[in-house]
Amino acid sequence: MSAVRPYREIIRRKSRQIHVGKVPVGGDAPISVQSMTNTPTTDVAGTIAQIRRLEVAGADIVRVSVPDPESSAALKEIVPEVTVPIVADIHFHYKRGIEAAEAGAACLRINPGNIGSRDRVREVVKAARDHGCAIRIGVNGGSLERELLERYGEPCPEAMVESALNHAKYLEDEDFFEFKISVKASDVFLAVAAYQGLAEACDYPLHIGITEAGGLRSGTVKSSIGLGMLLWSGIGDTVRVSLSAEPEEEVRVGFEMLKTLGLRHRGVNVISCPSCARQQFDVIETVKVLEERLAHITTPLTVSVIGCVVNGPGEATMTDIGFTGGGKGTHQVYIGGLPHHRLKDDSIVDHLVRLVEEKAAAVEAEKAGAEAEAAE
Ligand code: SF4
Repeated sequence: MSAVRPYREIIRRKSRQIHVGKVPVGGDAPISVQSMTNTPTTDVAGTIAQIRRLEVAGADIVRVSVPDPESSAALKEIVPEVTVPIVADIHFHYKRGIEAAEAGAACLRINPGNIGSRDRVREVVKAARDHGCAIRIGVNGGSLERELLERYGEPCPEAMVESALNHAKYLEDEDFFEFKISVKASDVFLAVAAYQGLAEACDYPLHIGITEAGGLRSGTVKSSIGLGMLLWSGIGDTVRVSLSAEPEEEVRVGFEMLKTLGLRHRGVNVISCPSCARQQFDVIETVKVLEERLAHITTPLTVSVIGCVVNGPGEATMTDIGFTGGGKGTHQVYIGGLPHHRLKDDSIVDHLVRLVEEKAAAVEAEKAGAEAEAAE
């Protein structure tokens, strides 16, 4: 694709690769999408159910808070019941880190410089090493060390990078390199500049996110601007979109960003026009229902749904399945970019869902056949 359309090429920053459980992060690994549960971790059944919903939504990694010993105990029950690797979110209490590693967490989100003496850091690193656990250093613009704030005057990119590298030094001193770093801030300028600085200063994989970004609409916009800027310039190995919304939405928005930039493909990419007086069917309602009905498809496919012939035929040439509104309630369906058949007004959504499901099944069967052949 890049050779044909060089303007779409994103050259990813070269980072070292670590593993969060079975998920590789960094290097040439696909950019993973993660989210975080918001159930009390001690509600084991509720947390498992939410993690499973996140798995269905496509989450590669899920983070769970571990604020107390009861949560560590709950984690031990949760981990065997889910497929995705679990990151334990730890603040200050080094013992929670050790317990979480023992409970089967695939990664600890912990800032080594905040957990006290070197001996404590050593103990946490030993537990992580013994249990094949990675670590995420999670610097946040809102909770920088006092010494850095006094020296720099306010949270700034340089202070965040320095904080991240200070924490990293603790792990490097223990000869531990299975870690990734985040330098999040709710201000997109600050977050982007901090990530750019960190990307220059080290080759550790980066977990990127705009923290406390807001609700579904404002958080999506803020994250798309900040993370879009980073991803477009090749920075970022794993993504978490923080929204004051259901965690599944974070995963959906994360994938939409990656799909938009051609960095990852999962599910149906719907291309639709905003509609206007020329529309030959109700574009907005059709797309709304169609997206809901196609949410279960994981096969990467592109579908265009365009209200009239002004843009419909052109868009359809670049899609797997295209639909263009036509006069007298008769619309045109395209398959593989070519006009295929016409359709009367009724049951547009049912018709498109069936076509997409058939196409997805055919793609999956072809893929399974190719894999079986390769394995022979
Ligand atoms: S494709 Fe047609 S219906 Fe859709 S916005 Fe353009 S002119 Fe309007």
